[in-house]
Amino acid sequence: MVERHVMEYKIANRKMPTCLECGDKIRYGRTDKKFCCDVCRMKYHHEQVKISKIYRRRVLAVLTRNYEILDNLLKTDVDAVDLFDLEGLGFIPGVVTSYRKVNRHDEYTCFDIKYILTPTRVSCIKKISLNLQVRKNNK
Ligand SMILES: [Zn+2]
Repeated sequence: MVERHVMEYKIANRKMPTCLECGDKIRYGRTDKKFCCDVCRMKYHHEQVKISKIYRRRVLAVLTRNYEILDNLLKTDVDAVDLFDLEGLGFIPGVVTSYRKVNRHDEYTCFDIKYILTPTRVSCIKKISLNLQVRKNNK
């Protein structure tokens, strides 16, 4: 009888996890359970997928804008510009498709346009020649 009393005490005082979706206490099940029910679990995961899509869409919008700004500079034969002026056009330097160090310079790309970025300047803006090979299955 004493043992049962101790067990009931432990169950009553265990730290109950809360549902990640609705915030209710999870009163039964494993201690690492994250959701109170399947509806909450599905709602939570659906929301996470939605948030991820919105984030990707925003990043892609910034990349597209950056690309258009750089492409317009190339069309007017400008291959170097003050970063401050570029930011004034809406360019966001932290959003890129790749980065590498080249001869102590920071080289970034925005899709097929590469450039060197310093704290104050964007220079050596160039289109990269793409060598995309289309895979042919029916050779
Ligand atoms: Zn819940």
